[in-house]
Amino acid sequence: MPEGDTIFRAARTLHRALAGKVVTRFDTAYAPLARVHDDTPITGRTIEAVEAHGKHLLMRFSGDLALRTHMRMHGSWHIYRPGERWQRPPREMRVLVETADFVAVGFNVPDAEFEATRDVGARDAIARLGPDLLAPDFDAAEAVRRLRARGDMTIAEALLDQRALAGIGNVFKSEVLFEGGVEPFATVATLAGERLSALVDIARRQLGANAGGASSGHGRRTTGRMAPAEGLWVYGRGGRPCRRCGTLISFAKQGVGSRSTYWCPTCQTA
Ligand SMILES: [Zn+2]
Repeated sequence: MPEGDTIFRAARTLHRALAGKVVTRFDTAYAPLARVHDDTPITGRTIEAVEAHGKHLLMRFSGDLALRTHMRMHGSWHIYRPGERWQRPPREMRVLVETADFVAVGFNVPDAEFEATRDVGARDAIARLGPDLLAPDFDAAEAVRRLRARGDMTIAEALLDQRALAGIGNVFKSEVLFEGGVEPFATVATLAGERLSALVDIARRQLGANAGGASSGHGRRTTGRMAPAEGLWVYGRGGRPCRRCGTLISFAKQGVGSRSTYWCPTCQTA
């Protein structure tokens, strides 16, 4: 599942390729999007910006229109030169935006809609998002407040709740809890305020480090170690020794959607 850092990188790559350019072709497998294109053509509009809002990707066009997409589990955006061979089959194309220099293709993007730009900030899906961990004006106190409001949830599930804070996916969930020394099944209500603050700080640092491109080519890294096989503390390491204490890493399916959770039973006791 794409995490905030992935969406952030995708938005930045798309922005660099497309911003300021005029759309020469638009195509989509979705009838509602095609209808908007028929009524008020996307072709001829200028792409003003491509931005990440939590896990949503917003492509803003001139004339008060934006395309909002959400990747869910399997969606992705690719960027190609015109005529370049795609890395996925054409039948997986859901949205295509072409300029003179580039073709942006959204593959298997399950959630896509046009909206008026002036309404974007008020859109339910976005307005409901908690503070974006990668935003320059990130409000840590508000993120802690929103976590705190989820007292009955386990901390692992609360960290995944994009309405509490936006950007953490399943990998960082486990990594953040390891660094914070917090047991994933602890309910939020049992955690002290400074503990929640620390988790938010760790999440912001981990996502920020990975959004900066420092890990390009080596996958995600939270340990600070260069070797690709040593990049993560616990995620994907069930049954293997903890990098800090040697205890075997535990694994369980947790919460709504049975998401994979990894943790060290010795290091994470809070
Ligand atoms: Zn350990």
